[in-house]
Amino acid sequence: MKKQYIIPIFVPHLGCPNDCIFCNQKSISGQKKQMTKEEAKKIIDDYLTNTKPEAKQTEIAFFGGSFTAIDEKLQEELLQVAYEYIKENKVSSIRISTRPDCIDKKTLKRLKKYKVKTIELGVQSANDYILKRSNRGHNFEDVKKASKLIRRYGFILGHQMMIGLPESTKEDEINTAKQLIKLKPKIVRIYPVLVIKGTKLEQEYKEGIYKPLPLVKAIEICGQLVRMFADKKIEVIRVGLQSTEEISDPKNKESEVVAGPYHPALRQLVESSMWHEAILEKIKKLNVKVQEVEVTVNPMDVNNVIGHKKENIKNLKEYYDVDLIVKSDEKVKQGKSKIEITKLYKDFLEEKETIKSK
Ligand code: SF4
Repeated sequence: MKKQYIIPIFVPHLGCPNDCIFCNQKSISGQKKQMTKEEAKKIIDDYLTNTKPEAKQTEIAFFGGSFTAIDEKLQEELLQVAYEYIKENKVSSIRISTRPDCIDKKTLKRLKKYKVKTIELGVQSANDYILKRSNRGHNFEDVKKASKLIRRYGFILGHQMMIGLPESTKEDEINTAKQLIKLKPKIVRIYPVLVIKGTKLEQEYKEGIYKPLPLVKAIEICGQLVRMFADKKIEVIRVGLQSTEEISDPKNKESEVVAGPYHPALRQLVESSMWHEAILEKIKKLNVKVQEVEVTVNPMDVNNVIGHKKENIKNLKEYYDVDLIVKSDEKVKQGKSKIEITKLYKDFLEEKETIKSK
């Protein structure tokens, strides 16, 4: 897979008509001042000078806030800045993220004019009660309408969903994924809710009204969702907020995170737990007492199979008394594996049993 370069430009809270219970955009984006066209140009120039990415694989992304809700003049100015780099063949595309109720035909025509390629919608939940409870200010019907319109206009559709919103259950999260799959996004981001300083959620947390998801639970739910999307060939491009100075371990002084399932390597934890489950499933199906198993995967998957801090190796040994040997082979496709039982308890296998899996 070729590397994709993203030049992130954070447009914080500008013009956002809402005040979601969990949101303090300034903290989430790490951006404290308003974005201007001059600042955007500087960010792009700095990135291009320092990184020298291939234009074909480089994208300018307006993240944070609700891009299509900001003042039209500023929208045009920022898009114009980005578009100049496309014309000069220095970057290949633009992406924006916005709210579902800030999408209409006029807006989409504007985005088309500046060659925006991808539009990501902050969906968060498919349950209208949960959306209301989080003060999102839109319902799921808005998501459906916006998604259809975005696809009809030929943009790549992206969805962002959250898990662990107030009063949301695992069933709600799974149902949200099911409803999103029906709307055919190409990409998805999954964000477990973190309690951020200065938000209404922080107040609810302090009053004991809101209880954040424990990390283990968040990993389990994310794993289930990633699998659901992967089964439908929808790429999950992010799990968890990006770690920054502000979004870091709540124990750090500078951290804006008060509580919640924060982990700097959340994606790896999720992928590792999925591999752990897949390996166990295969072993259990064999109906024999396995002592040692050899798993061969693509080099890109080796770390996830081993697990964060070798957790999968340790867990298989501790709970199932199985030794896990991990091998890499470029011929194995990413996400696939070959599992070989190399030792059984009592008697050793005379012939190696090979199972194609995952
Ligand atoms: S819509 Fe987005 S930017 Fe606005 S308050 Fe909600 S999460 Fe924050």
